[in-house]
Amino acid sequence: MENQFDAIVVGSGMSGGWAAKVLCDAGVKTLVIERGRQVEHLKDYPTTNMHPWEFPLHKRLPKSVKDENPVVSRCYAFNDSTDHFFVKDKEHPYVQEKPFDWIRAYQVGGKSLLWARQTQRWSRFEFEAPARDGFAVDWPIRYNDLAPWYSEVEKFVGISGNLDGLEQLPDSESLPPWEMNCVEKHIQEKIHSAYNQKRPVIIGRCAHLTEPKEIHLAQGRGKCQARTKCETGCPFGGYFSANSSTIPWAKRTGNLTMLTDAVVHSIIYDERSGRASGVQVVDAHTKEVSVYHARIIFVNAACLNTNLILLNSTSSRFPNGFGNDNGLLGRFVAFHNYRGTVSATMDGFEDQYYYGRRPTQVFMPSFRNVFKQDTDFLRGYMVAFGAGRGGGSSEGIGEELKKAAATPGGWYVSMMMQGETIPKFENHVRLSPDQQDEWGIPQLITSIGYDENDEKLLKDFLDQGSEMLDKAGCKNIQQHDSKQAPGLDIHEMGGVRMGRDPKTSLLNEWNQFHNCKNVFVTDGACMTSVGNQNPSLTFMALTARAASYAVEEMKKRNL
Ligand SMILES: Cc1cc2nc3c(=O)[nH]c(=O)nc-3n(C[C@H](O)[C@H](O)[C@H](O)COP(=O)(O)OP(=O)(O)OC[C@H]3O[C@@H](n4cnc5c(N)ncnc54)[C@H](O)[C@@H]3O)c2cc1C
Ligand code: SF4
Repeated sequence: MENQFDAIVVGSGMSGGWAAKVLCDAGVKTLVIERGRQVEHLKDYPTTNMHPWEFPLHKRLPKSVKDENPVVSRCYAFNDSTDHFFVKDKEHPYVQEKPFDWIRAYQVGGKSLLWARQTQRWSRFEFEAPARDGFAVDWPIRYNDLAPWYSEVEKFVGISGNLDGLEQLPDSESLPPWEMNCVEKHIQEKIHSAYNQKRPVIIGRCAHLTEPKEIHLAQGRGKCQARTKCETGCPFGGYFSANSSTIPWAKRTGNLTMLTDAVVHSIIYDERSGRASGVQVVDAHTKEVSVYHARIIFVNAACLNTNLILLNSTSSRFPNGFGNDNGLLGRFVAFHNYRGTVSATMDGFEDQYYYGRRPTQVFMPSFRNVFKQDTDFLRGYMVAFGAGRGGGSSEGIGEELKKAAATPGGWYVSMMMQGETIPKFENHVRLSPDQQDEWGIPQLITSIGYDENDEKLLKDFLDQGSEMLDKAGCKNIQQHDSKQAPGLDIHEMGGVRMGRDPKTSLLNEWNQFHNCKNVFVTDGACMTSVGNQNPSLTFMALTARAASYAVEEMKKRNL
């Protein structure tokens, strides 16, 4: 009886935290199982009050650490102040059939502690895209199905931004926006007039409390101080993480039980009832195996780990992985194409500066193939850019040096892309037949790559980005292709996609398995296509929607 709950949630990160919150709020006795250690808000942020000069190498990591961790070292946020929140390469090996930088965070809160907090809603165009453009399968839901859940999540999380009134990027429930600096405003004006207002330039929308409301204060969170030390954990709760928000909220209901250091090995299928009965768990330290039971199970281990757990959940009913009657589990994995950047300088504006460390950038919603197909590639990309002033010189000594260091250099502009990729059958993950991890679980093989559409989209961004900065009056425009492997975008999605037809998809419109209704997948694995927006807000909204549905179905005794 000790191991019996109403609901089990696998993973305590961005999406698992939301499942726990919604279920616990509704009185559902919920067990959250997390493979990593406890990270309690405020208590377990060891570096949050440290300054760069308090680290031996000013936050940089020694070469030996980088050499030992080539994959995670490529993530911009991995440094001496944050490395304790990242998975190290050697501890959790996987097999790269094609290069894939799998960036992971195994602890309570998952990657929600580390994310860059940029949040945009999908529009109707992203949900309609697969059907309109003939790729993947049709989404079983549309924007209007998710809109109320975006609102629900946004009010609780706290999203700063303007009400921009754009059909291609619907407004969030907004807290006051961050401000553009003078050069960004100048570029905005120039782009708006050069492209007849067809390419909107807006301040980024992000999960920061610019002006906390009652609901945020009730979570124990406060105003963001614009110090961008977020990835260390924020002592003010200024940005949203599961640690500062959903998990402690769920705990306060008295309905949450948290099991940490517990690796979910597989979902157990009960042949007699035709339902999942629970999960098998391996203790992260002792390797002892135990079983936990529940009426419903939410799998929120983050996209690829959710695929891994399901592929490893075999039974005589599902010999090829959980719910995998059509052989598509692990297939159609897609991601975001971040390869392109354009940099430039801007003359003038030398009498102006900016204050604080704004935790967002300037954004341009996709302007390619939105209202209709108008290029020779499918879909588009979001553009993000920022302008700043270079550091002062380090010439001289004494007063001379102080003055030189305090005099800022000229303005620079840096622009990047976030491109949609098309889910394809070949892009997949599967289990290694002969290599296991320390917990006796097969290692994951990643076989995910770029295609010709991605190359065309990249070229278009480099050309269009350069053109826009040129029209804005920038100088020294330089294009760059990082050639980075998929995965480093940290926006991997798919493998357990939603759809209308059990023959071509795994999950229905409520994120339930078509063939086993008491198991829900609501992290990135459920995504039918990937849009060009930052994805986590959509994962949270889908989770809140599915969890509320599950509560209603439990009340009706359908689950
Ligand atoms: C540096 C960085 C910047 C980012 N920037 C943005 C951004 O600006 N905007 C945006 O939308 N997204 C961003 N992301 C991505 C975002 O963090 C993820 O989309 C989000 O955290 C995914 O939520 P999740 O619940 O699926 O996974 P996670 O938050 O990673 O949580 C998954 C949890 O499951 C646990 N788990 C895994 N396997 C098991 C198992 N077998 N048993 C038990 N527990 C398990 C993990 O330990 C983890 O705690 C960024 C990520 C990083 C790292
Ligand atoms: S920028 Fe805001 S959210 Fe980030 S660490 Fe500072 S106060 Fe916290």
